[in-house]
Order: sequence, then structure tokens, then C-alpha cells
Amino acid sequence: QCITHCPVGALRERDDTSEVLDALADPDKITVVQIAPAVRAAWGESLGLPRELATVRRLAAALRSMGFDYIFDTTFSADLTIMEEAAEFLKRFTAGELKEYPMFTSCCPGWVRFLKSQYPQLVPYLSTAKSPQQMFGAVTKSYFAERIGVPPEKICCVSIMPCLAKKAEKNGHMYVKQTDSIQDVDIALTTREMDRLIRSENINVSSLPEAEFDSPLGVGSGAGVIFGATGGVMEAALRTAYYSVVGTNPSPDAFRAVRGQEGWREAEFDMNGTVVRCAVASGLANARHLIEAILAGQAHYDFVEVMACPGGCVGGGGQPIPFEQSEQAEIRGELLYKLDRLSPLRYSHENPEIKALYDQYLGEPLSERAEDLLHTDHNSWTMPLSLRLQMQDTEDTTIH
Ligand code: SF4
Repeated sequence: QCITHCPVGALRERDDTSEVLDALADPDKITVVQIAPAVRAAWGESLGLPRELATVRRLAAALRSMGFDYIFDTTFSADLTIMEEAAEFLKRFTAGELKEYPMFTSCCPGWVRFLKSQYPQLVPYLSTAKSPQQMFGAVTKSYFAERIGVPPEKICCVSIMPCLAKKAEKNGHMYVKQTDSIQDVDIALTTREMDRLIRSENINVSSLPEAEFDSPLGVGSGAGVIFGATGGVMEAALRTAYYSVVGTNPSPDAFRAVRGQEGWREAEFDMNGTVVRCAVASGLANARHLIEAILAGQAHYDFVEVMACPGGCVGGGGQPIPFEQSEQAEIRGELLYKLDRLSPLRYSHENPEIKALYDQYLGEPLSERAEDLLHTDHNSWTMPLSLRLQMQDTEDTTIH
């Protein structure tokens, strides 16, 4: 299962729960935990919790009872990723840089590694935006550390992710610039590891009342929530790009044509007379199929989202393992879209905590400080040949 769903060659699942327990027991550490959007759709499955009880706020309550000092939502930094990625797309699109090849999303480390190893000539077309996990860590150890008046070294930043590849990502192979001096994220746990931690701590989650996230990194929009499903990054980015171009919000469901489970989908959208051609792929075999068509001149797009796991992060290699993973990915994805529909916030650019972050600290998307903290240099790390070969051996060859 891990081999099928983890496209980065993380063949053995490493358990980092003891590192988390050590950090929680260390009186000199301030422990900050972030919960990825896709985790909320699956965390209760292996604990036998019905979906109506397995809410993200009940998970926040479980983490609080373990002793974490601050509990935040990666949905916040998914909104931040959207702000940066939408601005980057519009800048590159209007500058005419995407005439030959599209801009590719960069939030999935499995996909980034795949592109670097298989199609290095397309690396310049990757968005330079870090993933939500990494952006969260970067903001925690700068803006948040300053707000609570502690040196960043005192903070232990833990992430709960649906993903095995996030463990490699946080080590900085792909997203850290040579000039970065501190690791954004210290420990990345999968959803499965977190469930094990809950069991080992004997926490009766069903009896816990729901808990609120902390501020100022705890508010996320519905656009940030759908990051966890295939097509969600594209849809969320288009909502904000449209607002930037037209000056008014689109209908929140204006870009729903990119939703679905087919491995390669495409759609065109009109933004004030400018047509933007988009494609979405999930699963690396589908990604290869799409890239080959682009390179052969058979397909032309401006903006492409790729997620390495079939169905996106909801079907990630770190999620609970049901009998039929792909079926679960669709069910979990539908749950995220429902949460988006029910959210009072549907646009990343309307998130009040994102607005405060830009007002108080970053200035505007793509500012010098935003570039420094939230973007990366994809050329700072190239993949060794041994890893390239390993990736070829583990690639999912299923076209959906
Ligand atoms: Fe990780 Fe999501 Fe990419 Fe899968 S699709 S490798 S879970 S980031």
C-alpha cells in the first residue's frame, strides 16, 4: 500500500511518534502542531469513529489533551499558498512566460520529485511557492515566534499529514534554499501515526468536547479545505486569481468543472475576456500521460495541478488503509467539498488571519519578505541518480 501510494520511494514507513512524545515532555520546547486539510476527512476511520464525531475540532481536542501548546490548521497556510501561487500565476501569465508550457503547482512533494527526476527540463515551470506544510512552518518560526516573543529555535513545529512524502519534504531536500538557516517543520506525522499516538495515550476521543484552534494561524477558508482533494488547489487558486483580475468574487462554485475522479481533466475559464486553460491530474501515471501530451504539442494549458496520489491527498499514503483506498478517496473528497460549502469563508483572500499576516508582516503576495519565507529555489537541490532509479521502480502505472 505504501509503495503504491507513496511516489517518492519512502518504501518503509518510519514511526516518529516517540520524537513527538519527547518534544511534549521537554519543558524548554514550545510545541506547535498543524493539521492538514485531508486529515480531517479520514482520521477517525481507524479509530472506529463515525464521521459525524470525527470532526477536526475533536481532533484538536485530542491534541490539546496530549499537551500541545498551540494547535493550528494547515488550512490557514493552504490559503497562504493560494495567495502566493495565484499572484505568481497571474504574474507569469501576463508576462507571457507560459506560452510554451504551463505553470505547474508545487504543493505535492511526490509530484515535485517526479518532475525533477523524469522531466527536469520542466522544472522552471514549477511554481516556486512552498507547500502549505512548509509555509506554515516558515510563518510559525518568524511571524508567530515574534508575536509570542520567543526565539524560533525554541519552537518544535509538528505536522499531521496524510502523506509519507511530507517526511522527506520537511527535511528540506526540495523546499529549502541554500540561504535558509532553520528548518520550517521539525516532525511530520502521518494520519496513521497520529491515530497510533491517540491510542497509545489512551485518549477516548468520542467523549471529548470539540476544541477551537488557536490564533493567529488557526482560521482557514473552504478554499483551503478543498486543497486535500484532486482539483482543489486549482479551484481555490482560480477563485482568488479571478478576484485579482476582475475585482469582484466569482461564484464560489464557478470553477467546479475541475472536480472529479478522472485521472486527467481539463477546463477553460474566461476571466474578463482572457481565457485560462487548466488541467488537473492525479496519480503519477496520469501525470506522465499529461506531460507527454504537453511535450508532444498535443495539449496546451496555462495552469496545471498535479497530485501524486490518486484522488489527491485524501487518498494519500499516510492515511488509514481501508480495503479499497481509491473508493475512500472519493468519499473523503466529497466530505471536504461539503465542508467548503458549509464554510462561512469560501475565498482565501477573505481569510481575516491571512489579511492580518499580510498587513502586519508580509506586505503583499510576492513581496521581498514573502519571497524569502514562502518561496523556494527549485534548483538548490537536484535528485541523485540512485533516487531517480528508485522512483522509476515504484511508480504507479495505473491510468484512470
Ligand atoms: Fe502527499 Fe498529497 Fe502528494 Fe500524495 S498527493 S504525495 S498525500 S502531498
